[in-house]
Amino acid sequence: MTYLASPTRYDTMEYRRSGRSGLQLPAISVGLWQNFGEVNALAGCRDILRTAFDAGVTHFDLANNYGPPPGAAEETFGRLYKSDFKPYRDELIISTKAGYGMWPGPYGDGGSRKYLVASLDQSLRRMGLDYVDIYYHHRPDPATPIEESMAALDQLVRQGKALYVGLSSYSPEEMRRACAVLRELGTPCLIHQPKYSLLVRDVEEGLLDTLAEEGVGCIAFSSLAQGVLTDKYLQGVPPDSRAARKLGNGAIDESQLNPANIEKARKLNELAKQRGQSMAQFALAWVLKDPRMTSVIIGASKPQQVLDAVGCLKNYQFSADELAQIEVILKG
Ligand code: NDP
Repeated sequence: MTYLASPTRYDTMEYRRSGRSGLQLPAISVGLWQNFGEVNALAGCRDILRTAFDAGVTHFDLANNYGPPPGAAEETFGRLYKSDFKPYRDELIISTKAGYGMWPGPYGDGGSRKYLVASLDQSLRRMGLDYVDIYYHHRPDPATPIEESMAALDQLVRQGKALYVGLSSYSPEEMRRACAVLRELGTPCLIHQPKYSLLVRDVEEGLLDTLAEEGVGCIAFSSLAQGVLTDKYLQGVPPDSRAARKLGNGAIDESQLNPANIEKARKLNELAKQRGQSMAQFALAWVLKDPRMTSVIIGASKPQQVLDAVGCLKNYQFSADELAQIEVILKG
C-alpha cells in the first residue's frame, strides 16, 4: 500500500542543533548497521523505517559496509526510499560513511581521496539518491595525510554529492587537526559520531569538550550497548536477540554479556523502574541529558523498539542523587 506519512509526525520529537551549524537533527535517530541486510525481510525493514519517520525520526544513518553483506543495507534503504520515502526527500537527513574495508585491493579501505570519492559514488547508486546529507569518514586512517581525506570530503560537498561532512571515532587531537583543515577549506565539520553509553564513556575525557570548542555536534552510537543496556538479557539470551544470531564483525557476542555487565544492567533497571522508564529509555535519556549531545542513533529489530526509544524524551533530567547512584552501580 502507498505510504502516507503521519500528519502528526512533528508533534512530539525534539530537534537539536548540530554544533554551530544550521542543521537540526532528531534527538533519536535510527541506524541501519544491523537488521537491514539480505537476510532481513523487506516488510520488517519497511515497518521500522515507517514507524520511525511517523514518530519524527528524520535521520537515518548508513555506511557503505552495512549489511551483511557489505552494501546490502544501502540497497535495502534504496528499495524503501523508492517505494515509500521519495516524496519526503526534503524532510530526511540520510548519512553514509566510508573508512572500513569495502572492496578488494588498495583503494577499497582507508582514507585516500580515491577510496572516499569512489565509495560515495557507489553508495549513491545503491540508495538511488542524488546526494547524501552527511558523508562521514568512518574512522581515522593514520597512513593517509589528514589533509588528503578532508580535501576529498570538501570536494564531494562542492560537487553536490554531500551537503555536510562528518567524522567518526576520531580522537580529540585528530578532531582538532581535521576541523582546522576543513575550516580552512570552507567546509566546517558538522558532526562527530563516537561510541557512547553508560558502559563506554571515554568521550567524557576530552572529546565532548573539544567538539563544543570546535562548534561540532555529537551523535552517539551503541548507546544501548547493542542490547546489554536494555532488559532483554537479564534472564539469559532470548532466541530472537542479536547476541543469539552470532553475527561477528563487531556485533554483540557472549563476552559482552559477562556477569559484571549483567549485574550493572540489573541494578540500573531497578533505577529505571523507579523513574517510570524502560531500561532502554533510561540508557538513552542518560546520554541525552548532556546538551552537547545532538542525537543518539539507535539500532532496532522491531518497530516497537523505535517507539520505546522515542519515549525517553519525556524525561532526560536526572537528579544529583540519581546520578550518584548510577556512578556507584557502574563502579561495580
Ligand atoms: P544500539 O546500542 O542501539 O543496539 C541496538 C540493538 O539493541 C537492537 O538491534 C536491539 O537488539 C536492541 N534494542 C534496541 N532497542 C531496544 C529496546 N527498546 N528494548 C530492547 N532491546 C532493544 O545500537 P547499535 O550498536 O545497533 O548501533 C546503532 C547505530 O549506530 C548503527 O545502526 C549505526 O548506524 C551506528 N553505528 C556506528 C558505528 C561507527 O563506527 N560509526 C559503529 C556501530 C554503530 P535485538 O536485535 O536483539 O532486538
